[in-house]
Amino acid sequence: MHCLTFDIEEHFQVSRFDSPIRRRHWGAFESRVTANTCKVLELLARHQTRATFFILGWVAERHPGLIKQIAECGHEIASHGYGHELVTAQTPELFRADVRKSKQLLEDLTGTPVQGYRAPGFTITRETLWALPILAEEGYTYDSSLVPIRHEHCGLPGSDPWHHLKQTSSGPLWEVPPSTVNLGGVRIPIAGGSYFRLLPFAALCGLMRRIERKGRPLVMYFHPWELDPQQPRMEGPFFSQLAHYLNLDKMEPRITTLLNTFRFGPISEQIDLSPVLPLEPTVFPAIPPAEIAQDVA
Ligand SMILES: [Zn+2]
Repeated sequence: MHCLTFDIEEHFQVSRFDSPIRRRHWGAFESRVTANTCKVLELLARHQTRATFFILGWVAERHPGLIKQIAECGHEIASHGYGHELVTAQTPELFRADVRKSKQLLEDLTGTPVQGYRAPGFTITRETLWALPILAEEGYTYDSSLVPIRHEHCGLPGSDPWHHLKQTSSGPLWEVPPSTVNLGGVRIPIAGGSYFRLLPFAALCGLMRRIERKGRPLVMYFHPWELDPQQPRMEGPFFSQLAHYLNLDKMEPRITTLLNTFRFGPISEQIDLSPVLPLEPTVFPAIPPAEIAQDVA
């Protein structure tokens, strides 16, 4: 079985449209997160599938009933931080306050310990690795933010593409990266986002089977706004609009096909997160591009 995850946020909170001015007006935008998340819950119920929900504290504060509903459906509640600030835009002190506040909010609402964290925009990078010991100190068991790709705003090229236990300076922390594959020397993210919406499903399925044949779990991620082709259009750069609105009308049938093709569950149930210390601390060697090109998918 594989891991299915959803990042619960409003359509106007995505990083590619973020700006200080827009952020100040979040409260004035039409909220669509409840209706869209209910679509997700119905889709999962129809397929008798449970998932991990990385929830924004800002959303939890305004829609406590929705969070309780997600938990009552048997899904895993995890944290997407509080205010959707990129980790690369935060100081360690601000990051600690953000992840602490969201964890507390979610635990107060559900009465269940929150184990997992996913950074907005997957922005735990080489420059923000200080975030990992902070997550361990704040009581998180795993992180799902490190993507072993080269990207302008996120990614840690050369990092382990499979789930693994890190020994941070503050104790162990599991890392559960979203699925990637090596295609012709370039590691690409297929777990969600633009690639998932752009590639033909047959091609995607072939890549996902490649991971499955290695005995590795897929770690897929989606957002409630991806099931909302009617959402109001945000102003922004051309390529941001293209990436955000691409094939939204095809997402519900595509996720349905995915659920009919593979079996999924929450991260905390599909991956053994017991705190066994590794023999050697995890290190991040500077791997030259030629070596990254080796197919280790
Ligand atoms: Zn997000």
